[in-house]
Amino acid sequence: MKHPEGDLAGLSSNFDESTPLARELSEITRRRQALAAETLPLPETTRVFTVANQKGGVGKTTTTVNVAASLARAGARVLVIDLDPQGNASTALGVEHRADTPSVYDVIIEDALIADVVQKSPEFNALYCLPATLHLAGAEIELVSLVAREQRLRTALDLFLEESEEKFHYVFIDCPPSLGLLTINAFVAAQEVMIPIQCEYYALEGLSQLLSNIQLIERHLNPRLTVSTIILTMYDARTNLANQVVQDVREHFPEQVLNTLIPRSVRISEAPSYGQSVISFDGNSPGSLSYLEAAAEIARRGVPA
Ligand code: ADP
Ligand code: MG
Repeated sequence: MKHPEGDLAGLSSNFDESTPLARELSEITRRRQALAAETLPLPETTRVFTVANQKGGVGKTTTTVNVAASLARAGARVLVIDLDPQGNASTALGVEHRADTPSVYDVIIEDALIADVVQKSPEFNALYCLPATLHLAGAEIELVSLVAREQRLRTALDLFLEESEEKFHYVFIDCPPSLGLLTINAFVAAQEVMIPIQCEYYALEGLSQLLSNIQLIERHLNPRLTVSTIILTMYDARTNLANQVVQDVREHFPEQVLNTLIPRSVRISEAPSYGQSVISFDGNSPGSLSYLEAAAEIARRGVPA
């Protein structure tokens, strides 16, 4: 019988980087170590992001939840505002959002205080969520007749941030796939816009409309608003199309686009059905590492000058 150590030695010598699997494993190890070695800087003042793209299914909610979870894991205090009536961000963060749960609707329409409605996500220690329920679907129309209808989220958020005993480092607002009054409220409440772009055909379609709407908001309602961050999602390295999209976006938005690409990953899409972010669901999966790396980039870059 061979000595067990002999077997192990044989195994590890198979683990040189000659096979694709071995290369992938050693790459994952390298990325984990790089992430573990870094302490992320915390911003001096709260950074408020609106995550927007009027296209559905491009990864807004997935990006909101996983970037927020990544930053919370790294020690930041983070609030996610779910502004989509579908409540997908609330689901993924494991917070209650049945029809009778007090929600962002009560804040925007009924003047409830965020402090009374916000919930702690079971995901990470300092991660909070202002949930959305189905009621929010009606808010788009109800807002029309309200006073200061574009400013309602901003007023509530400013008050909440001011009165919070412990400072929040980040707020992420997950928008519905439209450019209606809810999204306008989000743009008015934020300083930064993060745009997820899906690496597929038609990726840039609608982008110029989005950018010109943001410019209008900046001019008339919120002069401090900037598109600080573009994140490329659902990247599949095997397709030329995805690589073409990456190249185009990097050419047009060299300052804003993150170096990290979020890969198409089954683990990322499975996590919400367990009421989890992929960061807690499978923290060492490539998708998870990518979101952690994207979050680290956002933290390192800081507020654009
Ligand atoms: P949006 O909020 O823009 O509508 P979502 O974040 O809900 O988009 O994503 C749309 C769908 O794509 C969801 O089913 C989500 O799980 C899936 N998805 C998002 N990002 C990825 C990814 N990187 N890999 C695989 N599936 C993804
Ligand atoms: Mg969404």
